[in-house]
Amino acid sequence: MDKNRRNFLKVAGISTLAGLGAPAIVDRVISGKGEGEVFASGGAAGHHGAEPTEHHGEGNTESHKEEKTGTRYGMVIDTRQFNANPKLGVKCVDACHKMHNVPEFPKGDKNEIKWIWLTNHENAFPEHSQQFKDKDTADNKVLVTCNHCENPPCVRACPTKATFKNKDGIVMMDFHRCIGCRFCMAACPYGARSFNWLEPKTILPTPTNPDYPRRMRGVVEKCNFCADRLALGEKPACVAAAGHSGAMIFGDLNDPNSEIRKVLKENFTIQRKPSLGTNPSVFYIV
Ligand code: SF4
Ligand code: SF4
Ligand code: SF4
Repeated sequence: MDKNRRNFLKVAGISTLAGLGAPAIVDRVISGKGEGEVFASGGAAGHHGAEPTEHHGEGNTESHKEEKTGTRYGMVIDTRQFNANPKLGVKCVDACHKMHNVPEFPKGDKNEIKWIWLTNHENAFPEHSQQFKDKDTADNKVLVTCNHCENPPCVRACPTKATFKNKDGIVMMDFHRCIGCRFCMAACPYGARSFNWLEPKTILPTPTNPDYPRRMRGVVEKCNFCADRLALGEKPACVAAAGHSGAMIFGDLNDPNSEIRKVLKENFTIQRKPSLGTNPSVFYIV
């Protein structure tokens, strides 16, 4: 087993799914071969190119088509602003989770669902040296979410195309097509996906946002860059919650005249785990 493969297994935790045909996924993920081909030579039993047999959720209608329009949405998170105002991160998490009916669990609960969360610097940026860190780095948390990777291993790992990249570069979930195999969770090196072990409607009997579909037990979920809000010309809920602080900037990375490109041009930024080649669309000013 070469070093890259061993490292990727370690980072993605894929080895824990070895009994589910994960080595085949790892090969595909590392080699970058096409989506939907994972099981062509004998993957998980019963899941060969399967159409979903169950429908999950409350009417998610996100489209599967990947059209090249040139848009690639991305985000800049300015950790300096969050360090200066520690309550801001919690506000952004609350805004997202209320908007998307994400049930709250005690921290560290194995059933926890996370679309966006706060973590320490070592977890957020394990490839960057943490030796002799300054006080801000030691004391403060970093806001993390799905990176909407340009080269997303989760998409390649999904046997049903329940997760896919849309025309705007957003990695989406179609809850109707998700069969709950969790290969995407093993493939994501950022822990950005959560599995519904319990029935969300039981945990959250009254939705915090009646306009957004709640999911069902047995499906995976994650941040969708607020694609539904973008369609209405609104900012993502977390970005709106950050207000005019400048702590979160959202926009089209492919537009050289966009605000986000201006911010990227004027600031030194880093991405999470760049060595894996996923090319995250979330950048950090540290
Ligand atoms: S962060 Fe994880 S879930 Fe999000 S696109 Fe990248 S690999 Fe997929
Ligand atoms: S659990 Fe993940 S890999 Fe499996 S069908 Fe659902 S989205 Fe696809
Ligand atoms: S972009 Fe939307 S879905 Fe993603 S973390 Fe922010 S509020 Fe949540």
